[in-house]
Amino acid sequence: MEGRPAATDSTRAVGARGDAAMGAGDGAAPPGLRATGVTPAIESLNLRKTYGQHVAVSGLTLAIAPGEIFGFLGPNGAGKSTVVKMLLGLIFPSGGTARLLGRPIGDAGVKARLGFLPEHFRFHEWLQAGEFLEFHASLYRMPGPRRRQRIGEVLELVGLTSRVKDRLHTFSKGMLQRIGIAQALLNDPEIVFLDEPTSALDPLGRREVRDLIRKLKAQGKTVFLNSHLLSEVEMVCDRVAILDRGRVVRQGLLRDLLGESHEVELQIGNMTPELRQELAGRYRLLRADGVAVTLGVTCRDEIPGIAEAVIRGGGRLYGLTARRFSLEDLFVAVVEGGSER
Ligand code: ADP
Repeated sequence: MEGRPAATDSTRAVGARGDAAMGAGDGAAPPGLRATGVTPAIESLNLRKTYGQHVAVSGLTLAIAPGEIFGFLGPNGAGKSTVVKMLLGLIFPSGGTARLLGRPIGDAGVKARLGFLPEHFRFHEWLQAGEFLEFHASLYRMPGPRRRQRIGEVLELVGLTSRVKDRLHTFSKGMLQRIGIAQALLNDPEIVFLDEPTSALDPLGRREVRDLIRKLKAQGKTVFLNSHLLSEVEMVCDRVAILDRGRVVRQGLLRDLLGESHEVELQIGNMTPELRQELAGRYRLLRADGVAVTLGVTCRDEIPGIAEAVIRGGGRLYGLTARRFSLEDLFVAVVEGGSER
């Protein structure tokens, strides 16, 4: 993790601009968020980070509502960690602005309301689980009684109460991630940043962490989840943004982004050029390979019409398989050779 550089006039100026520029109506808020007067948990406007000539993050504008689970996706090197470090106030932006809980990034009061589990957290594996949490609670300068109460609460939340006396080197990877999340929750934060929390875990460990993330949502916390495991993100997130080469190429509520789109694979005998033309004219032709034709539709109700069109056109329908578009389909479409590159 990069150290915090000394404040310079230019970085202070960014912060000062931040206060003025992030007023109401900047357009970054999710639909309805500004209208309801809700202060976004996280919002940024044209946030930029350059390293010399290299643009790591370019004009990032996003807004996340309180209580949302937000998935931040992108291939390696897209700029995800750089964004997280800027939001946490660990590095300064080169331009643009951001606010957390209505306050400029870097604000000391806000930092006390954040929790963070970094990707490669170095656990003090010789410590018992309880000692490990005691150590981190002491960094928050929590008074003794509050510390003991909070350690009990977070251990219970992550399901490790019975392991309080066990040393961390005896923990599975899933248990280590859960105690890491417990550490990130000690100060009862309003926003929790989790950087690739499930990447190193087996399916059971992933499920445990996923359930834990859902519990955090049930407690009203905002979760900022950095991940490249698209199926994981699809299972827990409300909103996602896909970052590619420092730019957001798609963002929105997951249900809006994936919608009702389906991929329909057909096995057709008697395929004529006219029938193929008819299908390609009415639907989005994704692939055609001999008797196999794959079409894209935006609504499930279009599927019966495809079968009718094939039969009406003289084709013999040997198979029709419909599959809902996944986050992975969307990711591949917008990141790999998608129209926005
Ligand atoms: P991600 O987290 O999506 O994998 P990063 O935010 O780590 O991506 O990196 C984004 C880009 O910025 C990459 O090209 C990376 O090499 C570059 N970068 C990150 N940190 C630094 C740094 N301290 N100095 C120079 N370049 C950096």
